[in-house]
Amino acid sequence: MEFAIDDGYSGIYYYAFPELKKRGMKATFFITVSAIGSVKGTSYPHITYEQLAEIAANENMSIGSHTVSHSRLSELSNDALKIDVAKSKQILENFTGIKIRAIAYPEGYYNGDVIDAVKEAGYEIAFAVQDRGLFGHEAYYSIPRIFTCLELAENDNALFIEYIKNYKAMPEDAFKERWKPINKS
Ligand SMILES: [Zn+2]
Repeated sequence: MEFAIDDGYSGIYYYAFPELKKRGMKATFFITVSAIGSVKGTSYPHITYEQLAEIAANENMSIGSHTVSHSRLSELSNDALKIDVAKSKQILENFTGIKIRAIAYPEGYYNGDVIDAVKEAGYEIAFAVQDRGLFGHEAYYSIPRIFTCLELAENDNALFIEYIKNYKAMPEDAFKERWKPINKS
């Protein structure tokens, strides 16, 4: 089991990182580049570059891109999309000195153009939020994850377990509504 934590809130440094280290567990942190060191757009502070460097230096921790802008990638123009995925990779690589192989789509939004841009930028894998390959997406560029959020984290384990069960039982229509199928001509 490996954890994937998005956005780069400072909580990953103060809470997740020490607990993972204690247990020798692995995680990938997907960082929103424009938010490093800021409280922009949220009531929660984000990690600083110094904290990011410390996490990146740990052998069990990986860093991935969560884009520069945290936009819904499938809603950007093609130019803006390409710039965002390429630039976030480049900035994180320049800073950490580590090759950034993975990206997590903000809010899980993606389509065929997004996958093309992510491949072109040189990513090897990409993570969605929930997608069980229902639309025949290319597997390495739409890896599903189980979504948790603050509301779940603040509640007890019972709710979390219930959520995982429901994830498996979620009807196909629920996916179609939010994670639109790819229309490749
Ligand atoms: Zn996010």
